Amino acid sequence: MLRKIKRSVTVGGVQMGGGSPVTIQSMTNTDTADVAATVEQIKRLERAGCEIVRASVYNEDCVNAIPAILERISIPLVADIHFDHRLAIGAMKKGVHKIRFNPGNIGNAANVRELVACARDCRVPIRVGVNAGSVEKSMLERFGGPTPEAMVESALKHVAILEREGFYDTVISIKASNVPDTAAAYRMADMRCDYPLHLGVTEAGLGAAALVKSSIGIGSLLLEGIGDTLRVSLTGDPALEAKTAALILRAVGLRKDGIEIISCPTCGRCGVDLEKFVKRVEAELPKDKGYLKVAIMGCAVNGPGEAKEADIGIAFGESNAVVFKHGEREFSGPLNEVTEQFLQAAKDMLN
Ligand code: SF4
Repeated sequence: MLRKIKRSVTVGGVQMGGGSPVTIQSMTNTDTADVAATVEQIKRLERAGCEIVRASVYNEDCVNAIPAILERISIPLVADIHFDHRLAIGAMKKGVHKIRFNPGNIGNAANVRELVACARDCRVPIRVGVNAGSVEKSMLERFGGPTPEAMVESALKHVAILEREGFYDTVISIKASNVPDTAAAYRMADMRCDYPLHLGVTEAGLGAAALVKSSIGIGSLLLEGIGDTLRVSLTGDPALEAKTAALILRAVGLRKDGIEIISCPTCGRCGVDLEKFVKRVEAELPKDKGYLKVAIMGCAVNGPGEAKEADIGIAFGESNAVVFKHGEREFSGPLNEVTEQFLQAAKDMLN
């Protein structure tokens, strides 16, 4: 996969663009002014794989909570601010590592200059984030609705305001709630500028439908080499956003970590409770000891082939099972015995 090298932007020590790995972001859904709840959630997000976290900053209480939050977390914090540039300036002065703010919404050149001067002094990058639901009226009229073209024009208009002030430490996101428009907008933006792109399908919804939308939208762009950082946007627990983001990166081959399980869907040929065994393997293998590809296959049809391709794999038969390690047949025997040996061998490979 060829990734276009984008301008490099650093967010609290984490690089975006410039050839750096694609980073995982998420957003808290606590009241930001409630420091204890926000910190607790950020720590959970961090454990789920989140590398940069965003919190909404919508009043002075949120701004004042920033130092106490920063003191207790170890990943960069982004302040999500709309319309009020004074909150953005307050957040930057309190130490946030990035702001999400659209400068075109300030409506006053002096205020823009004040915002940009503060961002420069505090070395804080700005993400310009345009969503289909918040495209300005003039663009909606010009393009006949929140089309990909309208969203890209809107984003580049905000970016141009920063450029006129000599500010280039910018990241861009352009999100729609449907996959084709999101993908089209990012492709256009990728061709038209060299700022790092923050990927996401916004307001993707709930459960399996949201996971599918996000995976296809973000995954297809990543496979085209587009995207420098990403947020999966789900209704519900944000820890699931971070976990899903990590799985998307692994599925498209941009990350190799944790346990990747290859298991068959089973069919009439399968004589064991494969689902139960897969769940056991997933629960018992440590996720933080590096990468291991584990194949667990229900019968001899595709079993040995897949098992040979994994770091370690097991193919079940009617009363026996065979285990392969790095493509070589390692051992075989009665089901119960071999499953225990297989699990132990996988654990040993991670130690
Ligand atoms: S590997 Fe065997 S049991 Fe599993 S789905 Fe394929 S044919 Fe069915």
